[in-house]
Amino acid sequence: MVNKDNYNKILAELNASKTQLVAVSKLKPIEDLQEMYDLGQRDFGENYVQELLEKQAALPADIRWHFIGHLQSNKVKYIAPFVHLIHGVDSFSLLKEINKQAEKNNRIISCLLQVHIAEEETKYGLDEKEALAFMEMYTAQQATLQHIRIDGLMGMASFSEDEVKVRSEFKNLKALFKIIQQSYFLASDHFGILSMGMSGDYAMAVEEGSNLVRIGSLLFGNR
Ligand SMILES: *Cc1c(COP(=O)(O)O)cnc(C)c1O
Repeated sequence: MVNKDNYNKILAELNASKTQLVAVSKLKPIEDLQEMYDLGQRDFGENYVQELLEKQAALPADIRWHFIGHLQSNKVKYIAPFVHLIHGVDSFSLLKEINKQAEKNNRIISCLLQVHIAEEETKYGLDEKEALAFMEMYTAQQATLQHIRIDGLMGMASFSEDEVKVRSEFKNLKALFKIIQQSYFLASDHFGILSMGMSGDYAMAVEEGSNLVRIGSLLFGNR
């Protein structure tokens, strides 16, 4: 069941700041996605490859599928034919594999670098230094990476009630976003997406410069 009131309220808020909404539908049944689609939603976010493949096959072809989970290199080939944006790129070998599979499909696949901004320990995401090193490598090898495009950054703040902390994590990601934009993309119209904010913290994320939020439980209920 979709929470239509929340959807309309969130859309109104996001429209005011021109922020894009990705509806995070992981672990939710196809009927729920169809219901969101019928309300006009076209951008959906999924975390698991197998689940995404099943949903993509069953739902309308004009849906833009965002892969927001941790992506293993050996699974890129399954989503490469259709994925719209891969949010979680956190290794150069993964980027190369996405490029390879995009080339096979005669596509250019948009990617976001995942940056680790939260205090919590996790295996995923680059820290600030690693993100800058990544960009150096990308710049050096760009000629061989013609089938991917780096369109921005994605990050997840700490799961915390501490507003000051969460806000400063968003500020840090925005600052890094600006640095990378100015250092590597000045002459380009790419690198415009800052993907941050989820059900619990999206309003603050938007205040701190997010232009794409990934919202699940407020729209579809708890998982
Ligand atoms: C699950 C998930 C979300 C959505 O989380 P909610 O709290 O349900 O809004 C957003 N981003 C990522 C990367 C996720 O894995």
